Amino acid sequence: MGKGGEAKPEPGALKRRIERHPRLEPIPKVLYEDAATNVPSTPYYDALNRRVDEIVAKARAVAKEPEIHILVAGDGALVYPNRIVWLPWVMGAVAGYLCTTAPSLRAFLWMLPAMYLGYDFYSGVLHVALDDPKNMQGVKSYILFQGCLEFQWHHAIPYDGASKPFIACCADLNIIVLILMVLNCGLLGYTSGTRAALTGLKLFFAYFGQYCHRAAHTPKSKRPQWVQFLQSTGFMTPQAKHNGHHRPPHDENFCLIGKMDPAVNGLIKLCGTNDWVWFGLWLGLSCCDVALVHRGLACVAPGLFP
Ligand SMILES: [Zn+2]
Ligand SMILES: [Zn+2]
Repeated sequence: MGKGGEAKPEPGALKRRIERHPRLEPIPKVLYEDAATNVPSTPYYDALNRRVDEIVAKARAVAKEPEIHILVAGDGALVYPNRIVWLPWVMGAVAGYLCTTAPSLRAFLWMLPAMYLGYDFYSGVLHVALDDPKNMQGVKSYILFQGCLEFQWHHAIPYDGASKPFIACCADLNIIVLILMVLNCGLLGYTSGTRAALTGLKLFFAYFGQYCHRAAHTPKSKRPQWVQFLQSTGFMTPQAKHNGHHRPPHDENFCLIGKMDPAVNGLIKLCGTNDWVWFGLWLGLSCCDVALVHRGLACVAPGLFP
């Protein structure tokens, strides 16, 4: 059919299509308008995105005003995009190399509990920022939008991590891991010695945190005995405790490994929940946590950490 024969769109139809909910205005559309270019090709992502569509449709059917993460998914944001699942292996190899540059085996053994706690605290601070819908808007959204979207949807679909392979959970961290690696090894120059080894350990504990969180959403029958044991001792976050975080208002127990929950809970009581405070805290920790852990270790065991 020639151009002249094409049916003209019904007046107002185009406007209706591009009209956004007024509450979406502070969220830059550019952050997700090309979401369709990263459509997942794996069955676990497809299933999760279908579940998102069902929840969005259900929310539209009821009169109640939906939460912002539901509105933005209804507006076209892709909650579960494709991720490169071989990248965690590459990052793991880099982190493994960095760990081998530790000054001594004894020093490395000291670093293990220090970074176990250090990363857990970091994960809690980041989680507080990502659970805050205000970080999906304005300037901060250029950094945090996708993370916020996924964390806030995780409250609605708690089994998302447990429904995909563990390597895909590690791949969820690809972008932040790449940025922190460039920051620590490139800009801050931590390529060998104590700080480099702590950087490598931070990455391994980040993947361990993903494992702990995934295990907290895995049915007991599918959790290995050793995982159940570590959960019962609190070395990995126990399921019942993490389930508490999933009940609104989602205001405590943010740490993914779980040991530092009392510290982050206390900090929330002390500082409140201002989005800029937690964003600043996360940025500050991203730049300084390795150096802070190094200083702490050097105070506790002088001479062991040059
Ligand atoms: Zn949360
Ligand atoms: Zn969870």
